[in-house]
Amino acid sequence: MYQSRLFTKTMREEPSGEIAASAILLERGGFAFKNSAGVYTLLPLGWRVIERINTIVREEMNAIGGQEMLMPALIERRYMEATGRWNMDVGFRAHVRGEEDEAQFVLGWSHEDILAAMAVRFINSYRDLPLAVYQIQTKFRNEARAKSGLLRGREFMMKDLYSFHATQEDLFRYYAEVRKAYESVFHRCSLETYYTLAGGGVFTLQNTHEFQVLSDIGEDTIFFCKACGYAENDEVATLKEGAVCTQCGAAAVQKGKSIEVGNIFPLGTKYAQATGLFFADERGEKKPVVMGSYGIGISRLMATVVEIHRDERGIVWPESLAPFTAHLLLLDESQRSETDALYRRLRDCGIAVLYDERQGVSAGERFADADLLGIPYRVVASKKTAALHKYEVKRRDEQQERLVEESALREICRTKQQK
Ligand code: ATP
Ligand code: MG
Repeated sequence: MYQSRLFTKTMREEPSGEIAASAILLERGGFAFKNSAGVYTLLPLGWRVIERINTIVREEMNAIGGQEMLMPALIERRYMEATGRWNMDVGFRAHVRGEEDEAQFVLGWSHEDILAAMAVRFINSYRDLPLAVYQIQTKFRNEARAKSGLLRGREFMMKDLYSFHATQEDLFRYYAEVRKAYESVFHRCSLETYYTLAGGGVFTLQNTHEFQVLSDIGEDTIFFCKACGYAENDEVATLKEGAVCTQCGAAAVQKGKSIEVGNIFPLGTKYAQATGLFFADERGEKKPVVMGSYGIGISRLMATVVEIHRDERGIVWPESLAPFTAHLLLLDESQRSETDALYRRLRDCGIAVLYDERQGVSAGERFADADLLGIPYRVVASKKTAALHKYEVKRRDEQQERLVEESALREICRTKQQK
């Protein structure tokens, strides 16, 4: 991609009204645009990151038997009334033309209701179970506080997976599989998460589990043990700060602010009972289907990665999520045609390169932009390096650049990209 052709430009100054470092950096870099409080456009650079996250999420969900689909955002009132969720504060209501008096739809903020009602047609017998479907979709929630940038949107991207089972035991077998898949997703996104015991929230009376990333910008508080990894949300905490962890006895409990990047819920039969989702077991007995639901905040995850992976100059994208692998900078006009040719060769061998070939931009500005955008490999072609038939490569997370030949440069970029 030629940087001169990019839809966006970087911003020197901080956007007004943003508190979270991730929101400031994502807006300054041109990854996201704030249209309204809690409402963001994912710009081309940001969308490339989101697509990489989605690819990881899809691979992990497909690996545990999830089947991808797409449900509507407009959810009719009757579905939500059946499950008792029509009057929830989080819902943005929508009116149908000619029936302005009363809203007939809500913009989907979670999809258990509509999905359970649909599944009635497809699940009849124990032979149909278990099943799991998921989607990656825009969700709408009427959040009272939308002050943390993409960490808390009124409109945001979520991956929601739902599973259907004949028994509680089978649900919990799958729940453990989802936990592993989630841990793999977060690990691949370079995030360390605590699998945290949490309350039922609005979905279920049983305990649920959240995936929490320690960060001062987080709105949650968890108690956790570094030795065994056990953690509890403060809403349900039995652990005490400074006391010995009751789970392992090996270390003192710590307390910290955290960001919830995922949440999994053993729903039980609530939604099946409400929607008439029953199956016939081996003896022909009619039973309610046992369900689980599992969410990952995709856009929150992107912002969380920025909270964790940044320095005073900008974003430091993990290689697995970076919008491009290499950022090629043209420092010297006299090298333009050689650098153009290098760009095309790298691109043609499948390396994702952002090529800063803008005219009238100083070297200082190019370096500052490269640091802000946080692409893993900065490649510089100058008169000095050209004379040596070499290029200067610097990893965003390292101080020292190195001089390499083109073959070595390709090798570095290619192996990193495949990860
Ligand atoms: P929170 O406690 O932060 O309000 P929640 O518990 O209401 O979130 P869930 O219903 O568990 O959210 O949604 C699944 C996931 O979607 C969350 O774990 C989180 O990562 C993400 N998410 C929820 N609300 C938002 C939001 N307003 N903006 C961005 N992501 C969100
Ligand atoms: Mg939650």
